[in-house]
Amino acid sequence: MRVMDTPDEDPAPHPDTVLLHGDRALHDDAALVPPITYSATFLARDEADFGDMAARPRHPRFYTRYGNPLHARVARIVARLEGTTDALVMGSGMGAISTTALALLEAGDHVIAQSRHYMSTSKLVEELLPRFGVTATVVEQTDPAAFEAAIRPETRLIIVETPANPTLVVTDLAGIAAIARPRGILTIADNTFASPLNQQPHRHGIDIVVHSATKYLGGHHDLMAGIVCCDAALAERIWATHVTLGSVLSPMDAWLLLRGLRTLSLRVERINRNALALAGFLEAHPSVARVHYPGLPSHPQHALAQRQMSGYGAVIAVEIDGGHAETSRFVSALRLSSQAVSLGGVDSLAVHTAAMWAGTMNAAQMARAGIPVNMVRMSVGVEHIDDLKADVDRALRDAMRSP
Ligand SMILES: *Cc1c(COP(=O)(O)O)cnc(C)c1O
Repeated sequence: MRVMDTPDEDPAPHPDTVLLHGDRALHDDAALVPPITYSATFLARDEADFGDMAARPRHPRFYTRYGNPLHARVARIVARLEGTTDALVMGSGMGAISTTALALLEAGDHVIAQSRHYMSTSKLVEELLPRFGVTATVVEQTDPAAFEAAIRPETRLIIVETPANPTLVVTDLAGIAAIARPRGILTIADNTFASPLNQQPHRHGIDIVVHSATKYLGGHHDLMAGIVCCDAALAERIWATHVTLGSVLSPMDAWLLLRGLRTLSLRVERINRNALALAGFLEAHPSVARVHYPGLPSHPQHALAQRQMSGYGAVIAVEIDGGHAETSRFVSALRLSSQAVSLGGVDSLAVHTAAMWAGTMNAAQMARAGIPVNMVRMSVGVEHIDDLKADVDRALRDAMRSP
């Protein structure tokens, strides 16, 4: 039996349950765990079936660049978490973001984005889109009025990302939606840093939600994937461009992503708890100058974060009470947090923020972007909190000792 786009008839369960059963309508054989549908192409039953497969947008069994049964399952679950009717699964977060932008924009259009975005998103907006005649204005994301002031008659899209690197500044999602919606300007929110369990931008009026599924959704630092969540009409538009650009998620990685999703709520619950506790511990530590974490009352936008988030995620930016050398020694002295980029997985990671951006920014640019030399970005994992605290405490003491 083939079950494709069967509408969901079950009542809306909690997100924890959606993660396990949200793709149940797509079960189509006896296996509890779906097979890895490792096939580039799919069989038609007859000529009429083939005609339907070829003509129907987003058919999950035609050709894997167009869709795949595992993509459909992942999309169904994440769309339900985000509260959108549809979702598209892509080969990476950047695949999802750039495909979406290229699908919705044309020469002459204008985009408003934040001064602080994921670096490749900034490059898309400030370097790639202008090559195709799309102009952009970047604004201070903490000020909704700045977005409003940047609007022009040709503004088609506002791109936001919250919380954002490196200092976890927060964008007012409902505030941006209220500015964009009445003017017919589409909005995209990169929800990667929050995860769909801690924040659902569509429920605040944002049209399109994108994720790097490489982070929390996969959750184990072993795959790259991206997701775009939106309504059916937008999904169809974006899918048409996706088929042309070809940012396809492999069936194996789609299967790993589906497997990762089953435990998302357990992981995010632990990560939220660990990160909040570690942020508080660091803030009280004598060798720490400042901690940036939206869950701390000291965060300048804590009240806004509380309004639009139900948990605050893995990422903490900590400024240690020292210079470049002490900061490097601190990162190197950590035993539980590996020195690696990415975030939102089961293992804790830590990077010296200035070193991460050294290849793309000079000292003056870093200062403007709010990246001091003593900043470390940590992504807190699911280890025991006592061990995480002991590890940062020991590493701070090692770092402060003169070499
Ligand atoms: C990682 C990340 C991306 C890019 O995703 P990839 O899966 O690495 O392509 C985009 N936005 C944010 C906020 C990210 O953290």
